[in-house]
Amino acid sequence: MKIYRVKRNRPKKERLILSINPKKGNRKLLRSFSWAGLPLLALSAIIFFWHDKPRPVEPSTYENITSQPQPAGEIKAAPLELPQPEHVHTYDIQPGDNLSNIFDHFEISHRTMYHILEADESLLALDTLRPGNRLTFRMDADGEQLEEMELFIHAGNRVIYRRFDESSFDYQEVIKEGEWEQDVLAGEINGTFYKSAKDAGLSERETMQIGELFDGRLNFAREIRAGDRFQVIRSQQSVNGEMTGQSRIEGVRILRRNHIHNAFLCENGNYYDQDGESMMRAFMRHPTAQRFRISSSFNPNRRHPVTGRVAPHNGVDFATPRGTPVLSTADGVVTRGRNHPFAGKYIEIEHGTKYVTRYLHLDRFLVRRGERVEKGQRIALSGNTGRSTGPHLHFELHVRGRPVNPMTAELPRAASLPEEDFERFNTRVAELVDLMEQNEQRLARLVDSEP
Ligand SMILES: [Zn+2]
Repeated sequence: MKIYRVKRNRPKKERLILSINPKKGNRKLLRSFSWAGLPLLALSAIIFFWHDKPRPVEPSTYENITSQPQPAGEIKAAPLELPQPEHVHTYDIQPGDNLSNIFDHFEISHRTMYHILEADESLLALDTLRPGNRLTFRMDADGEQLEEMELFIHAGNRVIYRRFDESSFDYQEVIKEGEWEQDVLAGEINGTFYKSAKDAGLSERETMQIGELFDGRLNFAREIRAGDRFQVIRSQQSVNGEMTGQSRIEGVRILRRNHIHNAFLCENGNYYDQDGESMMRAFMRHPTAQRFRISSSFNPNRRHPVTGRVAPHNGVDFATPRGTPVLSTADGVVTRGRNHPFAGKYIEIEHGTKYVTRYLHLDRFLVRRGERVEKGQRIALSGNTGRSTGPHLHFELHVRGRPVNPMTAELPRAASLPEEDFERFNTRVAELVDLMEQNEQRLARLVDSEP
């Protein structure tokens, strides 16, 4: 995965806080103060929490957060002009927020918001703002025009929208792989698998992924009974010590009375059972039953015909007449069914942990968010919604969060593990099973030692 590094000037205030208030020292400070030190304590608490969780900054405090813009890697010996103040606003997304309210809050025009949404059409990152996300707005010297907006999704993923000209923005995605740490979760079925998995500490999303892994092989509602056990090894991502909320399932075992169902993640990104048989059903190449002419190909370096700058086309366009049934190209779960000013009505489907497909400019949805769909199932009728020059279907395939050419990408073929991967896969399976067994023994000892 490619890692982009972005150089930018940190506002002076933040720099100051970092230098006088390293977190640990601050905590110690808070503990050692007596009541007499209350005003100081309050002040350091404010600074501490401010640093910990940026709050919206009111325009009236802008003098405090000015910084001197300096081109990276270049120091001017004698600046001829006075430094221009830079206005920065930070906003933490709250439940129920939408982009338009946030722009209103900072008195940034909707025209500018549409220019940003236009840049986001090929990413659609701003369409799922949720608590934990943070927006940072950097205005020009007069505080009038938005120069840059950063969307902080989590410590491993940020998107920066930069003004390109009067009426357009560019985007840059910053992805950090960080570290993945694994833990073992286990439990006994008591009620439904979903409830028991939640009790064991698995998130709803992880539980859904497990359900999907065994889809067609194990019916969780009918075949799982009280007393059956499950063991899961999960990895969670952190970047610079901060949890990102991203996780992946490394291995699962479901132990029924007389049968063990299992799935393990191979280095190639696919899941196999312990005999190396694929857990993934095959993908279709095309999202329609009929073949349609490609009116625009996948092209990450496409140049805008007028401005000449790079405007990636992250999918492939098919010349489908309005009302053409659109099919899910694989089994999966509908994660989005939304309406975007530029992408139009669109659907996103997650297929396991590695693959995502998107279908844009739709006329009508035939499925809902959260619904499970099968390969070949009708999910929508194609259309001409959003910014579209005529009826067509824009189809995207993402592999591990990156758009790829859906016409040439290697698709999961429901094949068994390639022979050259067998040795390493077996070693990994043995390692994961060993962790699960050790955990079972630990749990058994805990039960034994109970009075
Ligand atoms: Zn397109």
